[in-house]
Amino acid sequence: MKGGGGLSRRLPMTGTRRDTGLSARVRVLVRQRDGYACAGCGTSIIGRPHSIYPRRTGGMRATSWPGAYLASNLVVLCGAATSPGGCSLACEQRDPLMHARGLWLWSTEDPAAVPVLRHGSTGPEWLLPDGAIAYEEPTGRGQPRQGRPEADPKQRTSRALGRRK
Ligand SMILES: [Zn+2]
Repeated sequence: MKGGGGLSRRLPMTGTRRDTGLSARVRVLVRQRDGYACAGCGTSIIGRPHSIYPRRTGGMRATSWPGAYLASNLVVLCGAATSPGGCSLACEQRDPLMHARGLWLWSTEDPAAVPVLRHGSTGPEWLLPDGAIAYEEPTGRGQPRQGRPEADPKQRTSRALGRRK
């Protein structure tokens, strides 16, 4: 046996990509949840290049956020973030339509709170951290919901005050 711990040595990674925070278990979970099809265009991903795409902040910058590799933040998209013609690249380039469908999010948005509109779905779907799907907005615990989720007077005020000084 060579001297024990080996902590200073580089551990062998399963791949050379940087998405090492994404476990094989979660990959399988997300593929199953999305029916082995691209959430953007419905293309089958079986035998085709695809990404398990972190919605918030996008593929390359995802690791800076601790919730990046929860199923709530991940969708199956065709193609790769660096190859042309797929939905991964569209999200990587911040396509406004893909954003409107919740497939990628700004870093200020909460993936668990913003529903996705996947290809072929009839309505908004909230992706849950455990890989399940909710068809109604999940209510945050200890946070009673009022009738109108968007009516937050504080936000409007701060926006109005946010003008140039
Ligand atoms: Zn696609």
